Amino acid sequence: MSGAAFARLAAGNATRRTGFGYAERRAALTALAKAIRAHEAEIMAALATDLGKPETETRLTEIVPVLAEIRHTLAHLRRWMKVRRVLPTLAMLGTRARLRPEPKGTVLVIAPWNYPFSLALGPLVSALAAGNGAVVKPSELAPATSALIVRLVAAALPEDVVAVVEGGVETSTELLALPFDHIFFTGSPAVGRVVMAAAAKTLASVTLELGGKSPVILGPGADLKRAARMVAWGKFANAGQTCIAPDHVFVPRAQEAAFLTALRAEIARMYGTDPRSSNSFARIVNGRHFARLKAMLDEARSGGAEIVAGGEADEAARYLAPTVLTRTDEAMAVSREEIFGPVLPVIAYDDLDAVLGQIEAGEKPLALYLFERDRAVIEHISATTTSGALGVNITLAHYLHLNLPFGGIGNSGLGAAHGIWGFRAFSHEKPVLEDRFSSLGLLMPPYTGAKARLAKLVQRLVG
Ligand code: NAD
Repeated sequence: MSGAAFARLAAGNATRRTGFGYAERRAALTALAKAIRAHEAEIMAALATDLGKPETETRLTEIVPVLAEIRHTLAHLRRWMKVRRVLPTLAMLGTRARLRPEPKGTVLVIAPWNYPFSLALGPLVSALAAGNGAVVKPSELAPATSALIVRLVAAALPEDVVAVVEGGVETSTELLALPFDHIFFTGSPAVGRVVMAAAAKTLASVTLELGGKSPVILGPGADLKRAARMVAWGKFANAGQTCIAPDHVFVPRAQEAAFLTALRAEIARMYGTDPRSSNSFARIVNGRHFARLKAMLDEARSGGAEIVAGGEADEAARYLAPTVLTRTDEAMAVSREEIFGPVLPVIAYDDLDAVLGQIEAGEKPLALYLFERDRAVIEHISATTTSGALGVNITLAHYLHLNLPFGGIGNSGLGAAHGIWGFRAFSHEKPVLEDRFSSLGLLMPPYTGAKARLAKLVQRLVG
């Protein structure tokens, strides 16, 4: 993006602050929704090209989340935009205070390749709702979707409100050097550090939606069938290339065999006996990621891990079967790195507290999943673990709940998206304090004896 193009977008900020009100934001979001509906067939085609994504999965995970975000935003936007009165504190009696949400200004959205449509346009919905001008940088690793986003956004929104800039690392680096007011980044923790370092130069605020390993714990009272179903769905949707996919599963040793049987049955139920010919199973995004996953699998196998389901790989088709591993060890890449593919280690445990200790010792996960029926165990694990979100007897679905903030903590991210949290990420809640009949004058210089006594009284009153 040229400096001039950025300047054009930034020049709109002052006008947008006053002229991009409720009606204009509503119109922009409605136009975006209309363009998404009009481009439905193209969206399906682009995702099929980039990720071999089945149509129904594209509908459910790329189109529906963005349309749902728009619908939810339109239903609540007027309330979110309201200037809110806050009560005066004792010392501030005689003043009137308000919170006025204002757009941050010109914002940058950088998207990853795994849900290349919804993770580019979802944050854009929040950016527009909050009244910003935006630059969207889709992922170069999903080129068909990236090109489609350019066309779709151009059809819906004027260039001085949203610009889509295509490109890879170089483009991203150039964009990060521009003085954006907020950067909303979705991607890996490693690049998240690069983004935060770049933001330090301009002091842009950041939202970092990152990744990492999201563990699943089957408690002693887990419903194995339900757990198998939810884990198979959460893990193998989009061929495991989901930031909140279950990365690995801890199962009580006594229940390992029964869980594996249930898991194999669920995989067969969802993808048939030959998932390659299933019309419900996606492909690995590119040769590099295929090679990474294959190397992980080969290393695990040669190190003594056992493949108890799947394992078949076809490089030309970028097909990797839904695969379940047992007997992995901590030195293997599959145990150290975010897997981000359809490979699921199942780890038998003897002591739940040791599992919790192991999770605590690692990076804070984006999601932690617990399968358990006993309330006391659920409460114990809720209270003693930390993660971006906790799913109990469920996987993935907290992403779809727009009354919940979505985001990570520590290594898995900073800030939150979705619904009002997305709106807030792109807004500055400006405090406005107005004097009406406050007694502040009583404390101003010159500090006479009476004022010194008054100051002492005030100190005593506050504490
Ligand atoms: P990535 O970090 O490699 O790339 C993300 C974006 O950053 C792309 O647009 C890319 O062009 C850009 N980029 C890459 N290297 C860069 C650099 N050095 N400087 C500046 N920009 C750069 O991530 P990815 O491979 O596209 O996505 C996978 C990762 O994203 C996984 O870790 C996954 O867990 C995470 N993820 C998180 C969420 C979430 O909502 N928390 C959602 C999806 C994916």
